Amino acid sequence: MSSPIAFDGQNRPVVPEEGALIPIIVGDGVGPDIWRATEPVLAKAARLSGHRLEFMEVLAGEEAHRRTGQYLPGETLETLRKYRVALKGPLATPVGGGLRSLNVAIRQALDLYACVRPIKWIPGVPSPVRRPDKADMVIFRENTEDVYAGLEWAAGTPEAESLIGYAADRLKARIRPGSAVGLKPMSEFGSKRLVRMALSWALAEGRPNLTLVHKGNIMKYTEGAFRAWGYEVAREEFGPLTVPEAEAAAPGEEKRLVVKDRIADNMFMQSLLRPEEYGVLAMPNLNGDYLSDCLAGQIGGLGMAPGANLGDGLAVFEATHGTAPKYAGLDQVNPSSLILSGAFMLEFLGWGEAAGRIRRALETVVGQKVMTYDLARLAGLRPVSCSEFGRAVADCLG
Ligand code: NAP
Repeated sequence: MSSPIAFDGQNRPVVPEEGALIPIIVGDGVGPDIWRATEPVLAKAARLSGHRLEFMEVLAGEEAHRRTGQYLPGETLETLRKYRVALKGPLATPVGGGLRSLNVAIRQALDLYACVRPIKWIPGVPSPVRRPDKADMVIFRENTEDVYAGLEWAAGTPEAESLIGYAADRLKARIRPGSAVGLKPMSEFGSKRLVRMALSWALAEGRPNLTLVHKGNIMKYTEGAFRAWGYEVAREEFGPLTVPEAEAAAPGEEKRLVVKDRIADNMFMQSLLRPEEYGVLAMPNLNGDYLSDCLAGQIGGLGMAPGANLGDGLAVFEATHGTAPKYAGLDQVNPSSLILSGAFMLEFLGWGEAAGRIRRALETVVGQKVMTYDLARLAGLRPVSCSEFGRAVADCLG
C-alpha cells in the first residue's frame, strides 16, 4: 500500500481502493504505552468492517531528537503533507529546544487551522455531572491566531518598551511601563475559514445548531469581530441552509441550521446547565482551549476525549492529553483518548461502521467495570493496566 489519501473539492478524504496508509507519530512519555494498546483495536475494527488499514511510523519529539538530532525532522513534515491524514500521540515541549511547542509547530507548518474536539459520553464512564449523556457537542477551535499566535514580549525588553512607547505616542493608549506585552491578532480570513469548516461540518452531520462563542462584549474589535464574521459567513455562504436564532421560531424555519452566539462566560455555564441545547460550537483559540477541556471533564476527562487538527486537505488526529511523564513506560494510563481519536479518524475516512464498533466495544468494556486507574479511582474499582484495557477493547470488537 503506498498511494496517499486524496481530498475532493469539498475537503472530504477519498481513500484509495487498496486501503489507507496512515503515518503515526507515537509521541513522547506515555505515547508508546497508549499506541501499543491502540493499534490492535484500530486494525481489527477496520478489518472487521472490510477495510485495509496500515500504519507507518514517522519521527517527532524526543525519539526523533535521539535519532536525527532534530525534534521535528523535515522528512516527517513532508510525509504528513504527502499522506494527508495522520495520527499522533502526545509530544513533550522541548526544554531549551528553540521551539515554543512541537504541537504548535506541526499545526503551523501544515496550516491545521481547526482544532476539533467531539464531546460525547460513553455510557458507564464515571462523570462529575449527573447527566453526562446530555452533552453531545463538537468544538471547532481556531488554531492559528488569537493570543496563541506567540506574539508576546517579556517585561523590560526593548521590544516590550518599544510597543509601550508606540501605544502611548501613536494610539494614546497607556500601558504601565515595565509591563510584559502580548498581541491578540484575529483576522477576517482566519475567523471565516474556521466558521466555514464548522458550518459545513454541522450541515453534513445534520446537527440542529451552531453557536459562535466569543467575548465580544469586552473585546469588541477582536472577539466581537469573530462573532460578526461568523454570522456573515452563515448568511453569505450558507444563506438558504441557515437561520439566525432570532428568526428561528418563524414557521417553516425548523429545517434550517440555527446559528446563534453566546458570550464565553455564559457558554461555560450553559455547558453545565443546558448542554442539550448545543450541537456545534465555533470559537477563537483561547476560549476553545478552556471550553474543550471543561467539556472533556464532563465525559470522563482528557483520557476519554478524542481530537483532531484539520486544515484544507490535511488532517492530524491526536490524543488530547499530554505526555503524562510520571506515568511514562508504566503501562498505566488510559489509552481511550488515542483509541477514540483513531475512531474519529476512521469516521473521517468514511469508515463509520469501524468507528461504531470501537465505541460499542469501549462501552461494553467500561460496562464490565474494566477501567484504567483514572476512571477506576472515580468509580472505586481496582484498575487494569493500559495494555489490559486495550486487549479487552480489541476482544470486544464485533
Ligand atoms: P498531561 O501530560 O496531559 O498530564 C496531566 C495529568 O493528566 C496527568 O498527570 C494525569 O493525571 C492526567 N492524564 C493525562 N493523560 C492521561 C491518560 N491517558 N490517562 C489518564 N490520565 C491522564 O499534562 P502536563 O503534565 O501538563 O504536560 C506534560 C507534557 O505534555 C508537557 O511537555 C506538555 O507540553 C505536553 N503536552 C502535549 C500535548 C500534546 O501533545 N497534544 C498536550 C498537552 C501537553 P493524574 O496525575 O491525576 O493521574
